[in-house]
This record gives sequence, structure tokens and C-alpha cells, in this order.
Amino acid sequence: MIRPLPVALSADRLEAGIPDLKPLLTESQAIVEANRCLYCHDAPCIQACPTAINVPEFIKRIGTGNVEGAAKTILEANILGHSCASVCPVEVLCAGACVYNELQEPAIMIGRLQRYATTYAYDRGLRFFGKGQSTGFRVALVGAGPASLACAHELTRLGHEAVVFEGRALPGGLNVTGIAPYKLHAREALREVEYIQQIGFEIRPNVLVGRDLPFDELASDFDAVFLGVGLGPDSRLDLPGEDLPGCVGAVALIERIKNEAGFRLSGVTRAVVIGGGNTALDAVRELSALGVPHVTMLYRRGEAEMTGYSHELAAAKREGAEVRFWAAPVAIEGQDRVSALRCERTRIDSDGKLERIPGSAFVLDADLVVKATGQEKLATLLSGIAGLTLERGRVVVDPETAQVGRSKLFAGGDCSNGGKEVVNAAAEGKRAAKGIDAYLKGVARPANLEVSAR
Ligand SMILES: Cc1cc2nc3c(=O)[nH]c(=O)nc-3n(C[C@H](O)[C@H](O)[C@H](O)COP(=O)(O)OP(=O)(O)OC[C@H]3O[C@@H](n4cnc5c(N)ncnc54)[C@H](O)[C@@H]3O)c2cc1C
Ligand code: SF4
Repeated sequence: MIRPLPVALSADRLEAGIPDLKPLLTESQAIVEANRCLYCHDAPCIQACPTAINVPEFIKRIGTGNVEGAAKTILEANILGHSCASVCPVEVLCAGACVYNELQEPAIMIGRLQRYATTYAYDRGLRFFGKGQSTGFRVALVGAGPASLACAHELTRLGHEAVVFEGRALPGGLNVTGIAPYKLHAREALREVEYIQQIGFEIRPNVLVGRDLPFDELASDFDAVFLGVGLGPDSRLDLPGEDLPGCVGAVALIERIKNEAGFRLSGVTRAVVIGGGNTALDAVRELSALGVPHVTMLYRRGEAEMTGYSHELAAAKREGAEVRFWAAPVAIEGQDRVSALRCERTRIDSDGKLERIPGSAFVLDADLVVKATGQEKLATLLSGIAGLTLERGRVVVDPETAQVGRSKLFAGGDCSNGGKEVVNAAAEGKRAAKGIDAYLKGVARPANLEVSAR
């Protein structure tokens, strides 16, 4: 049974006021841009895409007026091609590999052309894929983020019954709760979930596996299980004052900005974001877009060591953010709520280790401190599953099949890759579906009992 999505997003959400930084191309813009493509042999843009979308093929189709065919090419390779068009860091993937870069000319706007084609298909309700002939096998998927959605879609095409269990009220994972609004709004991400789901698999929201449904029950009820649970909550800093109101985790804050009706940043004039990754940069840019007058990013190392993309850093600076390198937080100060962040300057010592410089303390006034130093792994759920090997909190899987050991358990996306991009989760989810299919075809015995809860 396909239940309708509980789409309950209010219009009164902060993200609704943040405009799209890369709006949809018009028809004439798309055709002009498509006709710039050189349709390269052994196109490097295909190789740079984790889902190997045939970029020259879909661009040629746009250029010749076959936009429907372009959308089919994209979605055949990556059923999350609509969100990926807007959220992929194309500068370091397909467009970064475009031969035009070597010619010192602007790379083809692959993401925007991709979005043009998938929006065309979505607006017209064009559907390209259907359910495969039933195999009678049932697969449970834990989490309704990009990894599980890609996996469930492919499993359905292969004739398996897929049931997705999602702990939150809304499916979509970080596409709905975490992606910066100037790239993708939650409503558009939910539209994609609906589009994908129409192939015919079920999503059961508000079921947190491990709390509302024991994992061993799931494992015994289904022929295979896919784990697409992503990562856990924001990491703690373990600093004095961390629990004061006004000190928040970046992922939690972004979720409120995107999803919570009536949420406001009332009275926030000085925000400090701690971290040097893409989530830190997203938080900085979102706070600037929401009109916070002073936004500072604080990173304990230098620009070269940042894991955040340089194009995002450049954009954050352009939008007015201040960036402080070589400084670490030591305490969050305030009486009833945050009023400042105490910091110390840092450097690399003679052994190559990061050290704080004695006597270098300084204070940044702040009414909002945002921690963006990573997400914890979902240890509580994962450590309760027997047969699972964790390496630094990541689920260890066979890279070809996504299988966990020789069990009926499979995993993909952030929970096994440690946290990459939506396109990686989509690729891994699809790959896992093929691994599950091969596994199920080889199952000549009742449901494998190697996996059970401890
Ligand atoms: C702030 C932020 C911004 C990002 N921006 C970008 C970007 O611009 N571009 C990009 O490509 N990538 C971006 N990413 C990364 C990208 O969002 C992830 O790589 C991708 O969403 C991973 O997909 P997933 O399906 O593995 O996990 P998730 O998207 O995290 O989905 C996991 C789902 O599982 C559910 N779940 C967890 N535990 C359970 C349980 N026990 N039972 C049931 N359900 C459960 C969760 O509620 C969630 O819905 C960003 C990440 C963050 C944190
Ligand atoms: S590398 Fe650039 S020019 Fe060549 S096929 Fe890809 S998008 Fe077109």
C-alpha cells in the first residue's frame, strides 16, 4: 500500500525567505548553453560523476529539443538527479572536470542544464520507470534519505517489495532537513521523494527503528535489510558553557531554519560558527542570508587545511562573513544565555601538532554560537546490531555489493561512507539494490539468520 506523504511544511519557515542562487534556466538559455558542449569522447564529466550520468548525451538531447529524453538519461543513471542538479558541488565534480576549464573558459553549466531537464519532466508528470515483475521478496530499508530512496526505487524496478522506515515525520533525509535553502528548498526535496516513490514502494514515517520497532523484528520479517540511516546529531565540543541557550549545533539549527514553522533568529546580531567544513560554511552563508549583521567563522587551522570547498568560502566572504583562521574556542560565556566566545590563537608546534599559543586569549562577542565540527555516528542503533563491523563509527561493507559480511544486511550513504554528498548516497543506494538482488537470487533457503539484535 502506498500511503500519501505527510507533507506538512508550513509557509512560515525561515528558509522560505531565502532565494534560489542558481534559478532555473529559461528555454533559450538552456539551448544556448547546451550548444556550447563539445560532446567529448571519453567525456571527463561522466567520469567525475559518482552516478556516471551520460552528460554529453543529455546535453545533446536538450540542444536538439528532446528535453524529455534528456531527463530520462539523467534519471536512468541517478533517480535523485533532480536534487543532485541543485545540490551537487559541480565545481569539484562534473563541471570541475569539463574540458573548458583547460581552455580557460567557463565550464558548461551541467548542474543547471540537468535541473532544466528534470524540472521539465517533473512539471509534466513524465514517468520513465515501472515496477518489475514481483519476485515475492521483501526488503526493509531503514531511513528515508537519498541512499534508501535510490535503493528502494531500484529494488522496485527489480520486482522486490521495498518498505522504508523513517524515524522523522517527513522523508527525504538531509535533502529535506539539511541542504542550504539557496540550493534546494525542503518543498522541492519532498516533491522529489513523491516522484521517486510513485514507482510503488511504501514509506512508513515516524518509525524510529531501534526505539519504535526492534531491529531483530525487522530482520526476521524481511528477506534483506538496507541501512541508510546517515549520521547522528552534531558533535559536542565539551567546553564550559556549551549547554547555555544560544549555543547550538549547525545541523540542528539548519533543520529548524528549513522545517520549523514560526522559528526566528530573534535578537541575533553576532553569530560565531565554529568549524572549517562545508556544514560550517553553509551555516555561515545561511545566517548571512537571513540578515544576521555580523557572522564570523572560526577555524582552528588555516585555509589550506579546511575541508570546506574554496568556492563556498569565497562566497561566504563575498556575502560579508568574517573568517578567523588559527583560533580555537575554549569556553562559551554568558549568564542566562550566550554572550561571548572565549578563544585562543593556535599554531603548529615543532612536532607538527596543533597547539594553543599561551597568552593569546581573546573574546568574540556573540549571541549565537554554532557548533559545526562534525556529526556523531549513530552508535546507539548500530552497536545494537550483531554482525556489524564498525570502523570509526562507519558500517563496513563490501564496496561492490554494499553487503555487510555475508549477512542479509546491506548499508550505504553517510552511515557507511562517513559523510559525503547526496550523489554518493544515491550511487551507493543503487549499487546496494543490485547487491541485494544478487543476494536474494542466491537465497535458496529461508531468511538468513546471521543478523539479529544483540
Ligand atoms: C548541513 C548539511 C549540508 C549538506 N549539504 C550538501 C550539499 O549541498 N550537497 C550535497 O551533495 N550534500 C550535502 N550534504 C551531504 C548530504 O546531505 C548527505 O551526504 C546525504 O543526505 C546522505 O544521505 P543518506 O541517505 O545516507 O543519509 P541522510 O540524508 O542523513 O538520511 C538518513 C535518514 O535516516 C533516518 N534515520 C536515522 N536513524 C533512523 C532509525 N533508527 N530509524 C528510522 N530512520 C532513521 C533519518 O531521520 C534520515 O531521514 C550536506 C550535509 C549536511 C549535514
Ligand atoms: S567535458 Fe564539458 S564540453 Fe566535454 S562533454 Fe562534458 S560538459 Fe561537454
